[in-house]
Amino acid sequence: MDKLSIIRPSLELDEILDDFKYIIDTGIFTSGKYVEDFKNLLIDITMAKYSHPCSSATTALWIALKLLKIQKGDEVLISDFSFPATANVVEDLGAKPVFVDVKLDTFNMDPDNLEKRLSKKTKAVIFVDALGNPSGISDIKKICRKYEIPLIEDAACALGSSENGIFCGNIADITCFSFHPRKIICAGEGGAILTNNSVWNSELETKLAHGARRTKDGSLDFVNFGYNFRMSELQAALANVQLRKLDSIIQTRQAVYQQYCKSLIPLGFLPQKIYDMVHYNTQSACFIVPSEFGRDELIEGLRSQNIDCSIGTYSLSATTYYMQKYNDIQQNANFLAKNTVTLPCFDGVDVERVVNFIKNFCLNGKLEKKIGY
Ligand SMILES: *Cc1c(COP(=O)(O)O)cnc(C)c1O
Repeated sequence: MDKLSIIRPSLELDEILDDFKYIIDTGIFTSGKYVEDFKNLLIDITMAKYSHPCSSATTALWIALKLLKIQKGDEVLISDFSFPATANVVEDLGAKPVFVDVKLDTFNMDPDNLEKRLSKKTKAVIFVDALGNPSGISDIKKICRKYEIPLIEDAACALGSSENGIFCGNIADITCFSFHPRKIICAGEGGAILTNNSVWNSELETKLAHGARRTKDGSLDFVNFGYNFRMSELQAALANVQLRKLDSIIQTRQAVYQQYCKSLIPLGFLPQKIYDMVHYNTQSACFIVPSEFGRDELIEGLRSQNIDCSIGTYSLSATTYYMQKYNDIQQNANFLAKNTVTLPCFDGVDVERVVNFIKNFCLNGKLEKKIGY
């Protein structure tokens, strides 16, 4: 059987050909109209004041911590159920990532656990929208406000999601998005950093591009020191085509997700809890697998049928590096890392094929256990 991938961008070759031709004809490969459009599209979608395209969510998170002057001796509290980049950027700056456990229903940072882990050294909190779900971020924001600690949102997966009608990008003090092919909008690689803070905005204007500012006569004035974390025109062109149809991409994914829910919940699979006041972009069709079926066996089975799938995501505290260094495993995140599966979700995915395999796997597995294999 054909390979069924876990995600596929909502993008056809003929949608992009004219843009690529324009880029090649003009020879403008960086900092042109496509990156400018990309930046403005993100502002339209999120309603944030300032938006800065960059090379990845990882560089966005890293520079966010630099803006907050995070350094050795500081502690940064982070959701434990995430991709390792969330912790790596903290580690890289010599600060200590302090893992905060997540709630088993939303997979997101537990506010009670956050309050327990705050200390005098806490200089920032990174909330992760697990698999794109922002449920509970408003509660975390309240706690951050109470203790006057800046809130960074690792919204790598969450473009288009909102809580209480406020879109990710406009909730936290700084928000970081990813445009990696595994995310809802694919730029090949790419990221963005959003904020409503004008001081950070002007820092970002120079920091992401060598510390330079363009003067009136068109030459460069190096007013700061900085890096090259730019996104290219080709990447922005790819992303823009998809960003313009974000709503319909989300709707299509939601329909696929509902089909999975309808078939899998009766078998005991648990979906991620999405709060009533949350609009979920459906970045991932992720479920907790009932323990009697065996998550690892299920993933192995799906892959043997050429159906791509993955774990939900990682427990950062339980990865080899962080476990050896800090020995501070968070129970719920570790449980989720060991018991979740993410299923293929994109426009046109053959849901029947996936669901039929899972039904057979679960029902036959039960039978085998009953008759004592
Ligand atoms: C994908 C992801 C990242 C890394 O994004 P890149 O753009 O690949 O750097 C960081 N955090 C989370 C939660 C992610 O899902």
